[in-house]
Amino acid sequence: MSETTTTIPPENKRSLLGAVATFLYLIAVSLIILVVWSVWQTRVQTLNQSKGATANLALALSQHASNTILASGTILRNVVREVEKNDVRLTSPHDLHLFLKDTIVDQPMLSNLVVYDAQGKTVANSGSRNSPDATVADRAYFQFHKDSNDRGPHVGGPIVGRLTNEWVMTVSLRLNDPLGGFAGIALASVRVDFFRKYYEKFDIGNFGTILLASDTGELFVRLAQKDVPVGTSIANGPLFNEYRTKGPTGTAMLVARLDNTERLYSYRHLEQYPLIVAVALAKEDIFATWQAQTYQIISITTGLLLLLGMIGFRLVYMITAKDAIEDELRSAKDQLQELNGELETLASLDSLTGLANRRKFDGTLAIEFNRALRNHTSIALIMLDVDCFKQYNDLYGHPAGDECLRQIGRVLREQGPNRATDLPARYGGEEMVILLPDTDRTGAVAIAERIRLAIRELAIVHQANQNGIVTISAGVAACTPQHAEHTAAQLIKAADAALYEAKATGRDRVCSNDVASTSAA
Ligand code: GH3
Ligand code: MG
Ligand code: MG
Repeated sequence: MSETTTTIPPENKRSLLGAVATFLYLIAVSLIILVVWSVWQTRVQTLNQSKGATANLALALSQHASNTILASGTILRNVVREVEKNDVRLTSPHDLHLFLKDTIVDQPMLSNLVVYDAQGKTVANSGSRNSPDATVADRAYFQFHKDSNDRGPHVGGPIVGRLTNEWVMTVSLRLNDPLGGFAGIALASVRVDFFRKYYEKFDIGNFGTILLASDTGELFVRLAQKDVPVGTSIANGPLFNEYRTKGPTGTAMLVARLDNTERLYSYRHLEQYPLIVAVALAKEDIFATWQAQTYQIISITTGLLLLLGMIGFRLVYMITAKDAIEDELRSAKDQLQELNGELETLASLDSLTGLANRRKFDGTLAIEFNRALRNHTSIALIMLDVDCFKQYNDLYGHPAGDECLRQIGRVLREQGPNRATDLPARYGGEEMVILLPDTDRTGAVAIAERIRLAIRELAIVHQANQNGIVTISAGVAACTPQHAEHTAAQLIKAADAALYEAKATGRDRVCSNDVASTSAA
């Protein structure tokens, strides 16, 4: 049977499985690393973009606050110039009121303009109401100007304006008398609401915040979901801690104490004024898009990994299934070969004697004769025949004859072959042969003689035969075959002739004969 399947040695299969597993494992690990890396990179980028955006907005808002104070300062300088033209004490309150009223007309950021005398009493204001008895002598800004010669604008607050009753940031300038002495102050009340309305224009996400505070930590504005009253101190909050430790500008991720929300803060102290603006985007808002993208990427990656796993299982299954199929084929082949062998043995056996049959003998003779021809070795043949066997059958019956042949067969099987190549066989009827490759005539005669004696020793009673037991006669022939001179048929013929001679000369004996050459015949 020819080999039909290509078999891969088990160690190669193991290494193939190992290579497949390693390959898939590397793909999966690379995929995970790539995804984690890209997700992390996107996160870093998102954070950096937000840092840039909040820092830029903080800068813009700080400039807005500076400009507002600068504009208020300019207005106040006009007021101061107007008042200082004369001695403040000689200024007509009514004229000053008209001047202030006129000045504030186009300034929506200002809720009030007031001039106070050296005692803190109102000289005139831009509003319609006046409270001549009220004094601001107790206010910090008044104390500041009283004690300082500085002529620049002073920023204060947050406070609730006594006349306007609204939260304001104060911007004030000192008034001097002609001798340079303290003559009072000019004060502009900047609406806190002005800042708030401006800040509301910016998109800071759902949970972002914008705040404006004095650098001592009092809130002017805090734009966020949760309202915090103006004036609330955030001096002990994380933003001011950061400001105190890191300096006038910075960016940091902080958790606000006011609403427990984590935000990315960019803060900035105004260059000239004691104010701090801060812009913060909530971490939740910053990473909302990133988070959604990450969930998408994770689900796609999970899908890919599952697909990879399925491919892996399929590959491993295919490799192992190929193994199983090959194993099955191999065992089927082995079984078939075994059955074939059994069949061949059965087909070449004689069922009665257990010897090789005539077909097997003919085939083997041809093969061995040719081998002897090629190798120039001797080949011998013993042909033996039971003496007066017809009479045995007649006397004891056919079944007894069969049994007798069976016993003779056993002797041949046990005594006949010396070598594996020796072949005892049933030639036909009660005639049997022993083919002896690589054996000369003398050797073959010796074997024939041994068998003749062994059969005698069986001592099977045969009244009609001489000596009263079953005997055989044997003819032996041998030759070293030569090309064009000898054939297998001649070997048989010579053995047959020797057997004939044994019968003719009295039976129960072995005769031998030379093989005649074809040319001589
Ligand atoms: P000889 O000594 O000259 O050989 O005499 P013989 O009687 O043996 O000669 P012959 O060849 O005439 O007789 C052979 C007999 O062997 C005839 C046949 O009945 C018998 N015989 C052949 N095959 C079998 C067999 O398978 N079983 C039995 N029981 N008898 C067989
Ligand atoms: Mg016969
Ligand atoms: Mg006979």
